Amino acid sequence: MNLVNTVTGTCSPDQLGLTLMHEHLMIAWAGWETDSTVRYDREAALRLVTDQVKQLRDLGLETFVDPCPMDLGRDVEFMAEVSHRTGVRVICATGLYTHTLGANAYYRQRKLEELVEIYVHDLTVGIGNTGIKAGLIKCATGAGRITKYEERCLRAAAQAHLKTGAPITTHTENGTMGPQQLDIFASEGVDLSRVIIGHSCGNSDLRYHLGMLERGCTLGFDRFGIEVLLPDKVRLAAMIGLLGIGYEQQLVPSCDSAACLKGRQPRGPSPLKHPSHLWHKIFPALRAAGVGEDKLRTILVDNPRRFFSS
Ligand SMILES: [Zn+2]
Repeated sequence: MNLVNTVTGTCSPDQLGLTLMHEHLMIAWAGWETDSTVRYDREAALRLVTDQVKQLRDLGLETFVDPCPMDLGRDVEFMAEVSHRTGVRVICATGLYTHTLGANAYYRQRKLEELVEIYVHDLTVGIGNTGIKAGLIKCATGAGRITKYEERCLRAAAQAHLKTGAPITTHTENGTMGPQQLDIFASEGVDLSRVIIGHSCGNSDLRYHLGMLERGCTLGFDRFGIEVLLPDKVRLAAMIGLLGIGYEQQLVPSCDSAACLKGRQPRGPSPLKHPSHLWHKIFPALRAAGVGEDKLRTILVDNPRRFFSS
């Protein structure tokens, strides 16, 4: 059996246990570090995030997948410290964010083979000189189109996957471009069962979901609680329907939360929910709709295990 890279070492896919596939310990928009008015207190951030992860551990969480791309404030040593303090496994990613939201002045100048080299290095040698290795590959597209740069990043993700066996997870916007992401992966020869199309719950069209599920990938229903984008009721209705007709092996729930944001804070309350929202609202709603404990276990334990098994 293959081993999975976590930020504190390796484990077997069987050891992952109850896993959330898309949450963030900390994010930061590129450029925050140049804002001279910002004071970042790393120890205070560690205490805040550790506290939030302990709440999840007490609900039963065993593994936290943080697919933060390298240009969204990824700090793998911070992740390792949180993992040590909480006992929750953390898996980090290599890969790049979207054309408009990432830090790509540098990466736009890189050729495809350079991106593959960087991703494979993160996955097999380690990130910087930390010795911490990425456990999966992230890629991302914006709303309604895939730019040349994003396509290059997707192809790099596919090729790094083929070289290393590490699975791929994606970011989509407004529930668009998931099928086109799959087209790019398929053209590179990727087995689509090793791919999660993230934020698929941002689209309420069941034909969008079914078309991708038929191709064998897993769909991230991973933005529960972000009601400013789409109400939970819509996400739930689609998920309950898909679970009801037998797609439980291809769905993973999460909240796409961020326990900490470096830099200036947005005005007003955060639109993101703490992932305990799943335990307090979403799992009870699934149970009330007749989803049994066996299917909940499938989406929380079995699917992550299979996704990380090569
Ligand atoms: Zn995310």
